[in-house]
Amino acid sequence: MHYALHDEEYWSRERIYHVQRSRLQATLERAARSPFYAQRFASIGLHPQDIRDVADITRLPFTTKDDLRSAYPDRMLTMPRTRMVRLHASSGTTGAPTVIYYTDNDLNAWADLVARCMHMTGIRKDDVFQNIAGYGLFTGGLGFHYGAERLGCLTIPAGAGNTKRQLKLLEDFRVTAVHIIPSYALHLASSMEEMGFDPKRLALRIALIGAEPHTEAMRRRIESFFGVRAYNSYGLSEMNGPGVAFECPEQSGMHLWEDAYLAEIIHPVTGEPVPEGEVGELVLTTLTREGMPLVRYRTRDLTRFLPGDCPCGRPHRRIDRITGRSDDMIILKGVNIYPMQVENVLLNMPEVGENYLIVLEREGHLDQMRIKVEIKDEFFVEDMRVLKGLQQRIAARLRDEILITPRVDLVESNSLPKSEGKAVRVQDTRPKDDA
Ligand code: AMP
Ligand code: ZN
Repeated sequence: MHYALHDEEYWSRERIYHVQRSRLQATLERAARSPFYAQRFASIGLHPQDIRDVADITRLPFTTKDDLRSAYPDRMLTMPRTRMVRLHASSGTTGAPTVIYYTDNDLNAWADLVARCMHMTGIRKDDVFQNIAGYGLFTGGLGFHYGAERLGCLTIPAGAGNTKRQLKLLEDFRVTAVHIIPSYALHLASSMEEMGFDPKRLALRIALIGAEPHTEAMRRRIESFFGVRAYNSYGLSEMNGPGVAFECPEQSGMHLWEDAYLAEIIHPVTGEPVPEGEVGELVLTTLTREGMPLVRYRTRDLTRFLPGDCPCGRPHRRIDRITGRSDDMIILKGVNIYPMQVENVLLNMPEVGENYLIVLEREGHLDQMRIKVEIKDEFFVEDMRVLKGLQQRIAARLRDEILITPRVDLVESNSLPKSEGKAVRVQDTRPKDDA
């Protein structure tokens, strides 16, 4: 089935508002059929019918990542699990991961949204699309894959990594559009420079970049090196994955698809809405999802609504580039990592002392994680082989947990700086602006 241009993209504010109201009601009624929301609504004496208007949404409780974990593995499903046809999970294996299920309709609606985003940037069925993103539980793989196929593009599921192979595919198949994580795009660029591979050998015209924070300068760099237009793509697995908000050809802010998601921006501490146009935490409610609707999900992503209308004429409001997180999540090479995951691994190893420090570094254009670990005196032996073995074991266990292999430095106990009060576990030395 191919993407037929729907008119949702250009719905008027009134139309969006009316649809939001009826979809919100339907969403709440569906949500109430899941064990999790049934209990949550009952505990505050709320009936879905009490919410008559979009503005009433503030009477509903937030849903958090911890709620998703507590509902693991399937207490948020509104129908039997046999009705689901796919699941994705966000990275991290400590305790319960967060799992999102999709029905057939949910997958269809998602592919349409991604196709809408891609179409908006100018990608058409004659384009050849290479998806340079991890396939698997990460939504950036299959999410873009099905969006591109729906548009009718010849779609190459290249996956992540392996620079030489990526280049071969890009060149041999005259690829015109890619989806790529911005840090990997820069890495690819510097590898090409080293290899003396002239970007003019490629037919690229559009790059979709997202999954991690990046600056305007980084975008411009990608654009000028590859000779493409690069569009910012925002999404999160809890809201399907990519396709939540996307830049249009104006490249000034990302249109958030308000027929599919109800967006609020709140103060991360008080939970109150921030004044229009101010930065706060993005909170999203799914409006069309049937298998696993989420109500007022706290994304922890910081952004703001951009004022005014977009010259492109699409009435869906725009959000600004994501400026950071209101929690301590680290995004490295597109993978989400919480310092607690690192801590759990380290503190379960008898050799490890009290203190550790996660250092985020940039080497060339690639982000790296270095972990300095204090080793207990009795294990800090002179034998280099023993220490090397320990170092490798720590790196391997961390890799299993956070899906990234960090560099591990073993240091003597009490050698890392002690902080008063809240421990500083993460030192981010990456340059803020990659210009
Ligand atoms: P995941 O659920 O693993 O796909 O991770 C989603 C998270 O990645 C979001 O909540 C954001 O923190 C981050 N993210 C995704 N897209 C972008 C983007 N375009 N800019 C900045 N951060 C992003
Ligand atoms: Zn626009």
